[in-house]
Amino acid sequence: MTETTLQVDFDIAAAKREILDYCLRSMEYGLNFNTQGNISIRVPGVEDRFLITPTDLEYDKMTPEDIVLVNGDSELIEGRLGPSSEVTVHMAVYKRRPDVNAIVHSEPIYSNVWGVVGSPILGTLVNMVIYTKGDVPIMPFELSNNTEFGEHMCDAMGDLNAVVWANHGLLTVGPNLRDAFKTSVAVESAAKVQAYARALTDTPIVLDYDTLGITESL
Ligand SMILES: [Zn+2]
Repeated sequence: MTETTLQVDFDIAAAKREILDYCLRSMEYGLNFNTQGNISIRVPGVEDRFLITPTDLEYDKMTPEDIVLVNGDSELIEGRLGPSSEVTVHMAVYKRRPDVNAIVHSEPIYSNVWGVVGSPILGTLVNMVIYTKGDVPIMPFELSNNTEFGEHMCDAMGDLNAVVWANHGLLTVGPNLRDAFKTSVAVESAAKVQAYARALTDTPIVLDYDTLGITESL
C-alpha cells in the first residue's frame, strides 16, 4: 500500500509531522530520554491502519518520513525503518478501546517514582483527574515487547486514560494526539505534586472523578 492509496481527505504527511512535533515536545517537557518512548495514532477513515514512531531512533534525530505505517497485527505496511518495539502494546489498546485514536508512551521520572513505590498516582490535580478519569493505576513489572503485556496493561488501565508500567514508564491514551499528550503532561505534574505532598502528609487531599461533575479541562 502506498501513501496515495490512503483516503484523500487524510493528510498523512501532516499527521507524521504532528507526531514528530509531539515527540520533540515530550523531550522538551522532560518526559523522555535517549530512544525511550513511542507515539502512535489510528489513521482516520481507513480500516486497520496506524502510524507509529520507529524503533531505536532518538526523537531529535527523527524526520517525519521515519514514522511508519502498520496494520493491527503490528506488520509494517510502509516505512524504511521497523516500528517501535512496543508496537504490539499499542495495537492491543486499539483493539480493546475503540474510543482511543492516539497513544503516548513516555518514561518520566515522577510517574516512575510511583511505579517503583507501587502506589497509584492519585487525583491531586483537577486537570489530571479530568484527563485520566481517575487515579492512575500501577501495572506490576513485565517486559513490554509482546502482546501479552499489552493485554495485561489493558486490564490494568480499564476505561481510564493512563497507566503506569512499574519500573518502566507511563502510557496515556486519548481520542486525539493532543489529548493523549496533555494527559501525559498532566499525570507527570500530578506525580510530582504527589511526591512533594506525601513528604509533608500521609493524607493529601484527593479528588474523585465520579463526583467531580466536570469533564472539560479547566
Ligand atoms: Zn518504554
